[in-house]
Amino acid sequence: MLEKIDHIGIAVNDIDEALEFYRDQLGLDVGGIEEVKEQKVKVAFMQIGESRVELLQSTDPAGPVAKFIESRGQGIQHIAISVENIEDTLLMLKAKGARLIDETPRIGAAGVKIAFVHPKSTHGVLLEICQR
Ligand code: ZN
Repeated sequence: MLEKIDHIGIAVNDIDEALEFYRDQLGLDVGGIEEVKEQKVKVAFMQIGESRVELLQSTDPAGPVAKFIESRGQGIQHIAISVENIEDTLLMLKAKGARLIDETPRIGAAGVKIAFVHPKSTHGVLLEICQR
């Protein structure tokens, strides 16, 4: 079952610079900055009601976030939907013919299970499925 829009991922050049807006001007609380080595990013999560904003800064010029910024500039990089059971959701999507980037979940920030669905299937949006 799909639960909610868990977070919106925003690719930025520099998290500390981006926080001058999101934290200092907009007034959001930052949970902490964490490095996710596997995805070559540093991330900062900020809660807004039931949902969150995730800032992503690349730690490697060859990483996916660096490549995203190179081709499209800073901005919304993915939308994440939380689900009750990520394995079931991935099996369902695969059975229905969706193009998955991850057929099995990997571990994202804060140890959460995540998987990505290809923008070719979603009409242009990188979609993250996550289970907390
Ligand atoms: Zn995310």
